[in-house]
Amino acid sequence: MEQIEFRGVTKSFSKGRDKVVAVTNINLAIPKGSFLSITGESGSGKSTLLRMIAGIERPSAGTIYVKDVDLWGLRYFKRRRFCKETFAQMHRMIDVRRYKTALDMVTRELPKSMDKAAKRAKALDMLDRVGLANRASNQPAKLSGGELRRVALARALATERPIVLAEEPTGQVDPSTAKALLTLIREINSQSGTTFLVVTDSEALAREATRTIRLEEGRIAYDHSRTFSPFTRH
Ligand code: ADP
Ligand code: MG
Repeated sequence: MEQIEFRGVTKSFSKGRDKVVAVTNINLAIPKGSFLSITGESGSGKSTLLRMIAGIERPSAGTIYVKDVDLWGLRYFKRRRFCKETFAQMHRMIDVRRYKTALDMVTRELPKSMDKAAKRAKALDMLDRVGLANRASNQPAKLSGGELRRVALARALATERPIVLAEEPTGQVDPSTAKALLTLIREINSQSGTTFLVVTDSEALAREATRTIRLEEGRIAYDHSRTFSPFTRH
């Protein structure tokens, strides 16, 4: 069964008397455990597509199913709760001044009902999964851009939600660091069964995912899947 399915989804915005069609008649099936990148030039509809999945932007026509639920058929509060349980957002910008350490950044994503020791253990485990176990007690301001991106990934994973949404997760880091982040996501994706949807305007980065759709003027111009050799753990 598909985890996310678009059926004839169109989104238009009215600009004064004009109508801007952001996304046109999208049909798309995304199975559980996918690592899908969404690419295309600026204005091609990438963000609109992701925002419709995230429950933020309502389609003008068509239906989006998430885990067999007609997402936009839900009423506001139900939809909000459903999205909160289903999606983890990997934020590009985190206000680091709010946190004392890298560990603290992850811990605060965990449920309030967890006790302190369990939170700490879990947050350390998440930092370990993104290769930052030795940075746990670092002040966020002393982490590099690439390390902060990985903390953002650890935070998303800590929520244990089945689908991670990331809008330009590699913003403001150099190309090799960006590529390493996508490779890390691919490794975690292959081990965890968590679905990742990543929007990026970089074709090169989009190719690090196991499937890429490219939008052109709101339509899917291509949909390409690829395989990578398995990761070897030493
Ligand atoms: P991308 O993320 O690929 O750059 P967007 O999804 O942001 O593209 O935008 C696609 C098109 O929809 C663009 O023409 C954009 O101007 C238009 N658009 C997006 N959001 C709005 C909005 N809230 N109001 C009006 N037009 C919008
Ligand atoms: Mg965008």
